[in-house]
Amino acid sequence: MNESENFNEQTLDESTMTAFDHLIINANIATFSAHYGFNIYEDADSIPYGQLHNAAIGIKNGKIAWIGAHEQITTHLPHYQENQVTDVDGKWITPGLIDCHTHIVYGGNRSNEFEARLQGASYQDIAAQGGGIVATVSATRAASIESLFTQSEKRLIALIKEGVTSIEIKSGYGLDLDTERKMLTVARQLGEKHGIHVSTTYLAAHALPPEYKSHMQDRADDYIEQVCEWLPILHSEGLVDAVDGFCEKIAFSSDQIRRVFEVARSLDLPVKLHSEQLSDIGGSALVAEYKGLSSDHLEHLSETDIAKMAASNTIAVILPGAFYTLRETKLPPIEALRKHRVPMAISTDCNPGTSPLTSLLLTMNMGCTLFYLTPEEVLAGSTVYAAQALGLASKGKIEVGCDADLALWDIARPADLAYQMGLNPIQGIMVRGQWRETA
Ligand SMILES: [Zn+2]
Repeated sequence: MNESENFNEQTLDESTMTAFDHLIINANIATFSAHYGFNIYEDADSIPYGQLHNAAIGIKNGKIAWIGAHEQITTHLPHYQENQVTDVDGKWITPGLIDCHTHIVYGGNRSNEFEARLQGASYQDIAAQGGGIVATVSATRAASIESLFTQSEKRLIALIKEGVTSIEIKSGYGLDLDTERKMLTVARQLGEKHGIHVSTTYLAAHALPPEYKSHMQDRADDYIEQVCEWLPILHSEGLVDAVDGFCEKIAFSSDQIRRVFEVARSLDLPVKLHSEQLSDIGGSALVAEYKGLSSDHLEHLSETDIAKMAASNTIAVILPGAFYTLRETKLPPIEALRKHRVPMAISTDCNPGTSPLTSLLLTMNMGCTLFYLTPEEVLAGSTVYAAQALGLASKGKIEVGCDADLALWDIARPADLAYQMGLNPIQGIMVRGQWRETA
């Protein structure tokens, strides 16, 4: 396919072409849309990033209503007010970025443990002093809803400043009904105040709360029973969009997670899972069985289970921030995921323990440098495939009918976003058709 022939062939009548709410003109666009040749597997006629040059976008009612060559709109420009037209002067437009796996709502932080470890303390020393996840659970339980909101909002703002227009936020530091509710409520409030899309995920099966631990025998099955009882309650309060768990030897078994997934299925809620981060105990196979949205982490994922993910259209969410922080050495099976055509998303995994990372741009760089992903893969993983990991069909790509959630960048080419570290070339974001300040 030739890029110059790549525009939407749609020809609209004069009355439509003069009735958009807003126009973006003179743009280079990374659409991540198959309509414009985007195909990560580089088949014969694919176009990198689904890119369009000298293009224009017409926006109506918060949606992308038209995409075409800049020349197609120039004769209609006199019909528009100055404030309805954004001339981006050859800069790049991407879909608004999507951070599809975060734990940004939590109390306190763990820089004291970071410092202690670098001074020689072991994880066991820190755990014995009440550190680790227990420290975050205590701080999150103790925080008022206002304080939890204020602490978490800073992290959200950092992400929005780098072009994020949709985010997933998990619970999982409450581990009791009231605090899980508080976390999910704060997640909803953050979305409302900042006018961006927030998908909430119930992650009570994240860790065993201290009150279920015992010198004799941990009561993990009893805790899972509680997790299963709380889910319908929080769902009935409109707080849950998806259900997650931590399937790992140090957390919960696949049989225990299955019990939670059965409740999710009975409520028609999609599932996802922290799988194969430290070992392979069958997490991704379980997610695939439940036709889950995503399986996340995946350093120890087997090729057998990759095939199962491919068959169930489950997205692989790759989290380089945790790999980096933990100084892991086992790489996720990127080549096998490519071979089986399992789409890969990437995310910050922002959390206080293993990934205190609030930069999706740096995450992209880490994905390239640590995991040998290409810039196109990490950008697709922060847009179109991140949207799929959240079940958001109308986000993450630029095509007619999608939400007008966009990011404007002062860059020479899309790869700049994955290449540079610490330079933020954002010029603005648009959310459902409205330009927003990012600073
Ligand atoms: Zn996580």
